Amino acid sequence: MPELPEVETVRRGLAPVMEGQVIAEARVNRPDLRWPFPPGMAARLTGRRVLRLRRRSKYILADLDSGETLLIHLGMSGRMLVSGDPLGRFVHDHPAAEKHDHVVLDMDNGARITFNDPRRFGAMDLLETATAEQHKLLALIGPEPLGNDFSEPYLVAAFKGRNTPVKSALLDQRIVAGLGNIYVCEALFRSRISPRRKAGQIAATRVAALVPIIRQVLAEAIEAGGSSLRDFRQADGELGYFQHSFDAYGREGEPCRAAGCTATIARIVQSGRSTFYCPQCQR
Ligand SMILES: [Zn+2]
Repeated sequence: MPELPEVETVRRGLAPVMEGQVIAEARVNRPDLRWPFPPGMAARLTGRRVLRLRRRSKYILADLDSGETLLIHLGMSGRMLVSGDPLGRFVHDHPAAEKHDHVVLDMDNGARITFNDPRRFGAMDLLETATAEQHKLLALIGPEPLGNDFSEPYLVAAFKGRNTPVKSALLDQRIVAGLGNIYVCEALFRSRISPRRKAGQIAATRVAALVPIIRQVLAEAIEAGGSSLRDFRQADGELGYFQHSFDAYGREGEPCRAAGCTATIARIVQSGRSTFYCPQCQR
């Protein structure tokens, strides 16, 4: 499931071919994904100019000149495929339509954006731009981890008195936006905080230290995604999924990479999800 860095990578891949461009034709091939599409979605998109492509948590938001904002959520398996040659960078034609191509946007610069989602946990909706942040999907989401509101004092205050394990606290979207299993495991590994420790019982200095670590982990993943945008595979139009090397996530039974540590990475299940960590250096 894509987390914040993957979604940001998709946004960065789409921005150059969508921002400032008119959607010459939108085609919607089914009535719904996870939820029904809004009424008349194809007609409400066709002819509209995309003013800005932004991201909030794991949602991509395309502000249109109609005063509406197209909300895109990739769900578990959603992909945004770019074809055509709008930037003169990629030489390839539009691929043949595939079974799970649910929404197709033909831009007036020749780019085609195809939303393909085999498992259909993705979503698209149209919101009023002026009140988009108050939409039920967005209203309760906490600060962006790469934004100024996510600060050391903020996280210390958010953890105060909390009896849940720090792993669960960081996955709580009301505390911080967009973090998922992978990057929480990685951030806790670097901070040497045990994922089992109760959020409210970690010393304030250690909680504060998590803030720059989380930012760094995300920034590195976005950077890796950015390089994948430039590689050959991405020229085929597949955005936002890339191989990335992790220190803890997915490494059960493999040697801990922390300097001087001789332990192996363990896997436990917390709130129904796998946590990977080093029982020796994460305390
Ligand atoms: Zn270790």
